[in-house]
Amino acid sequence: MSAEPRPGQAQPGPLQPGPEVPPRHVLILGGTTEARQLAQALAPDPSVRVTTSLAGRVTAPVLPPGGIRIGGFGGIAGLAGWIVGHDVTHVVDATHPFAERMSFHASEAEALTGVPLLALRRPGWSPQPGDDWTFTDSLAEAAELLPGFGSRAFLTTGRMGLHTFAHLPDTWFLVRSVDPPTGPVPPRLETLLARGPFTLDDERELIARHRIDVLVTKDSGGSATAPKLTAAREADIPVLVVRRPPVPQGVPEADSVPAALRWLAEVA
Ligand code: NAP
Repeated sequence: MSAEPRPGQAQPGPLQPGPEVPPRHVLILGGTTEARQLAQALAPDPSVRVTTSLAGRVTAPVLPPGGIRIGGFGGIAGLAGWIVGHDVTHVVDATHPFAERMSFHASEAEALTGVPLLALRRPGWSPQPGDDWTFTDSLAEAAELLPGFGSRAFLTTGRMGLHTFAHLPDTWFLVRSVDPPTGPVPPRLETLLARGPFTLDDERELIARHRIDVLVTKDSGGSATAPKLTAAREADIPVLVVRRPPVPQGVPEADSVPAALRWLAEVA
């Protein structure tokens, strides 16, 4: 059979592109290594548009590829409005495990908009044989217990909660943060401006040089700041570990970037 058109029959034109499929738009609530890694992993995919949102706490943040927006949304309604107004198709809450308010806002925004939400949360740390850890429910409880554990503290809980320790005149503090602390701080304090990851050698050296006899940390999890725990174990010093705050119920969780990518591939 001939494929030639008969006289009078319309000539087939060049292939017309089909109706354009709008790219998926993933909003990553960021501020963590995992958030950056997720944006990096999605960057080569032309069918995905990525926007990473940062709170704006750090003066010179390391920026991931893709779109960036900086600053609060103005509460739950503001976040929901942004999601709808920017045709967001998926939200990944990749904020720090201690960014409690933002995680609840993200969950409330899902309820308002119906746009699916995933929480990307790295697993917490667990004590190993030889560790001397005491868990607390809050920074305030850690501050209350601290004088009973040591007098030269390595405080790695971030500059925002430093005021919680400001009333402790007898403890000497080594504070490590990305930006300089502001607001009330303890009277005996040395600040070390540094951004992780930190190596085991870094941490051993700090603990020895400053004669640290107690470490205070949040249960942030992840590998970038874990060597301090190994160094504390080796130096035989106690660690006060602040437990993670509660998370919103019913939000699916991924504990790694590959698991988050699988969720994004599965959830239309
Ligand atoms: P938070 O208490 O949960 O959030 C307070 C407010 O900051 C939120 O209500 C929201 O303002 C704004 N916000 C938080 N994360 C945001 C984001 N990714 N994009 C836009 N706005 C955001 O949070 P936080 O503990 O202050 O932490 C702030 C940021 O620092 C987070 O993104 C977190 O990932 C990062 N971080 C926190 C810690 C920590 O220990 N808390 C450690 C490392 C990094 P609106 O209500 O106006 O939207």
